[in-house]
Amino acid sequence: MSRDALPCFVCGNPLLNVFEQSENQPEEATEFRSYGHYGSTFWDSMDGEQIVLNICDDCLRKHPERVAQQKRYKPIRCEKTWIVGREWVDRPMVAYTGNHDDEVLNVEVDELGTKLPHVEWVENLAEIKSAIEAQLLSGEGSDGQNE
Ligand SMILES: [Zn+2]
Repeated sequence: MSRDALPCFVCGNPLLNVFEQSENQPEEATEFRSYGHYGSTFWDSMDGEQIVLNICDDCLRKHPERVAQQKRYKPIRCEKTWIVGREWVDRPMVAYTGNHDDEVLNVEVDELGTKLPHVEWVENLAEIKSAIEAQLLSGEGSDGQNE
């Protein structure tokens, strides 16, 4: 680990990590990872190994017509601000627009931890639920302490 991240795959410009201790979290760039897949003659790992590359934001901006986006899950919120899980969705990949689909699933406190289809709760749900209940009892309202 060092301050250096992988360079941009497209332009070759050097990239720095946002945090010195990051293994590869470049500033003004995005990391892409893949196990590869059937069809590639370059990378199709069947043993859990990924290829990793970075593309700088400038290079991505040059060809938005070559980029797609796909919403994979909706964040689940409770009391408007607390992030308590993910609802996995099956949305189609669409042309890149640059606009984020900010749709979320809002749940009530008494729904936390219940079995809901395609829902994955955060690991520390019991801890968060206690904090939300304490906040509701004190009448302070939402202030998004877990963000
Ligand atoms: Zn670049």
